[in-house]
Amino acid sequence: MSNSRIVYPGSFDPITFGHQDIVSRAAKLFDHVVVAVANNSRKKYLLSLDERVELAQQELGKFSNVSVVALHGLLVDFAKKNNALFVLRGLRNTVDVSQELQFAAMNRKLSPEIETIFMTPSEEFGAISSTLVREIAYNDGNIEPFVGKKVALKLEEAVVRGK
Ligand code: ADP
Repeated sequence: MSNSRIVYPGSFDPITFGHQDIVSRAAKLFDHVVVAVANNSRKKYLLSLDERVELAQQELGKFSNVSVVALHGLLVDFAKKNNALFVLRGLRNTVDVSQELQFAAMNRKLSPEIETIFMTPSEEFGAISSTLVREIAYNDGNIEPFVGKKVALKLEEAVVRGK
């Protein structure tokens, strides 16, 4: 795959070790990985778009071929604008599989030239979800096994702000 670019979209609310594991695998296979942080106006986030982008940038700064940007508009349009023919999604379990197959099929209908690539995380990260991390943070639990230190601090701040 010469000059291959792949877009990895998600909420990243917050970015976890699971996301980071997927990015590190993709960064070895593709020339460039664009992590695209979504902001769906119908969705409620704990962290703002700027916070989610900034934390992902901090956590992924060690990869020279990874960039983090905000995702506006339709994913397939964003991919084309970024000269990416691939979209990356992570699969943790069968729930992800059924959701992601639907997502990939819809995107293929919208834009047949864009291919969705699925990757699985290393076993130790397979159970991590941003939703559960937020839930643990809301209940004052220790989230450090699942996210970076700066992410944990920012999340704890956001929880206090929201209470
Ligand atoms: P979304 O709101 O689009 O589900 P997420 O930020 O939760 O966004 O996840 C983005 C992508 O990363 C999805 O494909 C999701 O399945 C994947 N993902 C999330 N957590 C993990 C994990 N622990 N291991 C592997 N993939 C993951």
